[in-house]
This record gives sequence, structure tokens and C-alpha cells, in this order.
Amino acid sequence: MQSLRSIAFLLLIASLASAQGSMPTDEKRPSENVSFTPDMLDKSIDPCTDFYAYACSKWKAQNPIPSDQAGWGRFNELQERGQYIMRDILDKYSADDSKRGPVEQKIGDYYQACMDESAIEKRGTKPLAADLAKIAALRSKQDLASELIALHRARTNVLFNFDSTQDFKDASEVIAEVDQGGMALPDKDYYLKEDAKSAELRTQYVAHVQKMFQLLGDTPTRAAAEAKVVMEIETSLAKGALDRVSRRDPQKIYHRMKREELATLAPVLNWKVYLDGIGAPSVGTLNVTEPEFFKHLNETLKTTSLDNWKTYLRWQLVHANAPILPEAFVNENFNFFAKTLAGTKELSPRWKRCVRFVNADLGEALGQKYVEVTFGAEGKERTLKMVDSLEKALDQDIEDVPWMGADTKKQAAAKLSAITNRIGYPDRWRDYSALKIIRGDARGNSQRSNVFEFQRRLNKIGQPVNKDDWPYPPTTVNASYNPLQNNITFPAAILQPPFYDNKADDAMNFGGIGAVIGHELTHGFDDQGRQFDAKGNLRDWWTAEDGKEFEQRASCVADEYSSFSAVDDVKVNGKLTLGENVADNGGMRIAYMALMSTMVEEEPPPVDGLSAKQRFFLGWANVWCQSQTDQLARMLAATNEHAPGRWRVNGTVSNMPEFREAYHCAANAPMVRQNACRVW
Ligand SMILES: [Zn+2]
Repeated sequence: MQSLRSIAFLLLIASLASAQGSMPTDEKRPSENVSFTPDMLDKSIDPCTDFYAYACSKWKAQNPIPSDQAGWGRFNELQERGQYIMRDILDKYSADDSKRGPVEQKIGDYYQACMDESAIEKRGTKPLAADLAKIAALRSKQDLASELIALHRARTNVLFNFDSTQDFKDASEVIAEVDQGGMALPDKDYYLKEDAKSAELRTQYVAHVQKMFQLLGDTPTRAAAEAKVVMEIETSLAKGALDRVSRRDPQKIYHRMKREELATLAPVLNWKVYLDGIGAPSVGTLNVTEPEFFKHLNETLKTTSLDNWKTYLRWQLVHANAPILPEAFVNENFNFFAKTLAGTKELSPRWKRCVRFVNADLGEALGQKYVEVTFGAEGKERTLKMVDSLEKALDQDIEDVPWMGADTKKQAAAKLSAITNRIGYPDRWRDYSALKIIRGDARGNSQRSNVFEFQRRLNKIGQPVNKDDWPYPPTTVNASYNPLQNNITFPAAILQPPFYDNKADDAMNFGGIGAVIGHELTHGFDDQGRQFDAKGNLRDWWTAEDGKEFEQRASCVADEYSSFSAVDDVKVNGKLTLGENVADNGGMRIAYMALMSTMVEEEPPPVDGLSAKQRFFLGWANVWCQSQTDQLARMLAATNEHAPGRWRVNGTVSNMPEFREAYHCAANAPMVRQNACRVW
């Protein structure tokens, strides 16, 4: 979602790859025993030659990608364990029991309806009938605005996106926003790139769209013509869309204007009907992320016939609902989006998909129960202690960096001390009481949840920013920094091994969760985060000279990562992944500083023959062990702001003289970079 655009995550899981996909595969509950042990190391590999292979090749060999996944890493192990915990909770509450509380009824009945495949089969496409009839009844392009309202309110991805956002330049205000959208493929490049692989994927995509129309009852000939129309429209939208690297620049996606100005950009659409009816409090001004997109959209609206628009809307409707329609839709959706696009072999078992849907639609309801069974008060306390030591290290680092002047340093230190920490779960849970969840009504539940969430987001417009509002549920294995609010978020699900292990020593934990905390804090000072001030306003607080010094150091990182291979002949995009790589670079350094501050008296004795300094780097490598299908690797290279695990490890350690010292590497070893990059 575009609302997450400004949040820098630790890791973007390719949810597309697994979320779409019921054949039970491996029902084995994953092991709880995930602590690091030295027998995981491949002693035949010199850590100074390829540290990632030294730390991860055995794990990779012992943990092949499960057939219902496109990638598998230590993150996924943790997620998988969480899925089983969530299933236990949902099983408990899915029985129709009058003793259930309101939250338990909602998550339990949502899960029950989702699991009831025979009811879903019996209903067929009936749950879509009313929506399809409305699309068929459109009489003119003037009617499009009111149909867009209905589809957008159900969070269907048609033409563009409407949402609320914190004003980039006034952190006290939440305003409305329109953003590019309406394409089903993962990125605009998929529509436009001219290489053979991209052309092949487009042919397969059109074949998929055709099959979906056939499942709706259209003849193969008609469905083929319709699929061509969809491809033409989406390609046209792609041509007007801004690329991902540009979208990382907040200046390029901030254009606050009056509603009348938006109407001038795209007069073919009836904006009065749309903006008055979408469900937002009055929209006088709004952020139009990319005016060029809306100008282009206007041309597309003009030149495309009403019948073709109907075809496109029908496609997006069925596409959005495919995962909760009968099996034939689920399988066809899986075949293209998970199998062809990401290389997943099999659909995951029904229960896993239903757990994900509950988590996506009722995340803070399920999250309350999840936190009760997994997260104690001591988890919050020990995390806060780590955060505190990392903040101290970053403060020291800012003071020490030789390239930054005193004035900018003062501002940077003020920004750092203003960062707020959100650990475990929100202080106030989201109130779902207005959302109706009904047993046996899978699609209705999904639809109502979407409308509920859309309205919840729109209700923020004109209200003060609510900093208790979390961007994702506590069941999420991830962490983030939000430059608009200058805060970090660490959900309960990530505060476990291999990130934080009660049984491990400080060195491993500082290399794991410590470096992750350092990574998030550094995001406040990466190429994107540094453009916002302590309050979250987009405002340049750097002297021109210091800004230049920063850019120079950042471009060292961009160039370095651009030289790494992602898959086949595809390279990592150093500009797309710049913020994350800067965060890894700085995060590891300050985590190392924080660890050293615990060892001022003396270094602890080696554990299993490994010194504390060596174990620190293993703590980092250990969380990034991962494998991906070639297809997924290709998709992530185009869409993910994070470099592959291998480079997050080797790229980071090879820039650190501390690594060379810990492993006694020769000056010309591959893990000792001659032109080492350092930002923070
Ligand atoms: Zn990050």
C-alpha cells in the first residue's frame, strides 16, 4: 500500500509470493530450537573469502525452500512458527460459542468462514454478482466516478489510489492523497521493459487474465479480446507512472494542491462526485503524488471506450477477490502470481492462507491474543534497554564523524534524541466494534473489512496525527522507522530468536536485534530519512557542505551495491536499495560500538572457540541466511528496496575494518574492501 511508502522496513517479505497461494504439504510444526550453534558454520570456507557462505551455506543446504514458498530464510522460520501459534488461537475461537468475547467472535468467525471451502464452492461467483451488475450498468464515462468510489472503498486497485497521509511539510496535519495505481503486475517495468524475459511474462499474464474472464463465464474468444484490453489499459497507466527509485525521493511525490487543480489535471473524471462521495471529510486540498500520472490518466480515460473500462473494472474486481472465491479462481491466481511470477511450486495449505487473511484484515484483534501468549513485560524491558544503548552509540557516532560540521551535528543529535520507540504492541488497540463479521460469509467478511479499513484511514483526515496507530500488527516479523513521525516500531513477533535469544551471549544479540535496532535508527539519517527533521517535517536542516559530504558517502554505497549480482545477469539496483544499505552500514557500526561499551573492562572469553567480536558478526549473518527461487530473486531485484541477504552480510562486513580485525583477514582478502564505504 502507498501508505507504507514512507516507512523504511527492515525487510520486505515477498508476501505476493506466498499470500496468494490448498494442497496440504508439510504439516510439520517447525522446531522451536533455532538458536545459533557453531556446527552451523561451514569450516571449509574461509570467512575472509565469503563470510555469508561460511555462516549460511550449511543452513541453506539443510533448509531447502518448502514447496509452498518462493523463498526461505530465518525470517520465514520465525513467521512460520507464528502461523502455528495464530492457528491455535483461531482454532480455539472458531467454534460457535456464546462465551466468546467480541474480539474472539470476530477472529474466530472470520477464520471459520474462510476455512469453509464447501460453502465457498457452493456460492460460486454469486458474491460478486451485485458488483458485476453495477459495472455492466454503467452508461457513460461520467458514471465512472461513482463506480470508482464503490471499488476504492472496498480497496480494489483500480486506476489510482485514494488514502490519507501525514502532510510531508506539516507534521501536525493529516490530509487526503491520490497516488498512482491500477496495475496488477508488481511494477511499471513489467509492462514496459523490452527484454525477452519481460515479454514472456507479459504473454503469460495476458493468458492468465483471459483464464480469469473464462472462469467468470466468458467464451475463450471474448475472454482473449478482453485480456488484451486489460493489458492495453494497464500498460498505458504504467507509462504515466513514476519509477520506484524516483518514488523514494519525497520531493518528487509531494504536490499539495487544491481539489480544483486536480480536476484541471484530469478533467475527464468527475472529481466533484468522487471527492464528495469517497467518504472523506471535506477535501479542500490534497497531495497529488504525481501530477504527471494524472495527466496521463486523463488521456487514457479519454481514448479508452466505456466498454473497455467496464472490462478493466471487471478484471480488477475478480483479481482482488480471487483468493476467497472457489478453488478454480484460487488456483488460477496462484498459477500466475505465485508460480509463474515467483517460482512457488505449490499452493500453501488452506489454513495458512486463512491465518494470513485474518491477520491482514483483523491484525490487531488477532494480535491481542497473540501477544497474550507470546510476549511478556520483560520482553519490552530488555528491548528498551538495547534501544537505549544503541541510541547512545549513535549519539557518540554523530559526535565523532569527521565530515559533518558542528551546526548540522547539533540538529542531528536533536533529531536522534526526539526519536520515540514503539515496542511489542500498540498502547491502545484498534476498535473493531463497528465491523460486522459473519460466520459462513467469507467474501462478505473480506469486503466489509476492506471498507472498514478504508474508512478508518479516511477518518484521520483533518485530525491530529495519532502516534498510537501502528502500520502493521504485532504478529509481523519486521521492524521499521517512520520519517514522518520520527519513531521506530518493533513488533512482538521479531523480538525472538534468532534476533533476540535469551540463551545467547551479548555478542550474538548485539549482532542480531542490536544491529536491527541500529539499522532502524540509522534510517532517520539515510538518504531519505535525513530530509525530514526531528518533528517529521520535510525540511532541509543540513548545511550545503555537509549535505554534499553525505551525498558523496552515500554514492559510494550505491556504486558498491550496484556491482553485486542479484540473479543471472540482473544486478542489484544500488539506488533503489540505497537507504537500506546505508542503514545496514550504520546500524552494524553503532551496534558494534554499543557492544564494545559493554566490554570496556575486559573482553569475555571465547565461546565455542569464537571470540565475542567474531560472534557479533555471526549474529548479523545468522539472521540473513536465505534462499530464493530465481523468479523471486528477479522480482525482488525490480521491486524490493532491500538487497538480497548475501549482500546485506558481505556488503556490510567488507566495509568494516572491525570485521577484518575480528577474523584476522589479509589486506587483500575478498571481505576486505579496498575503497570501503562508510556513511555513519
Ligand atoms: Zn530498513
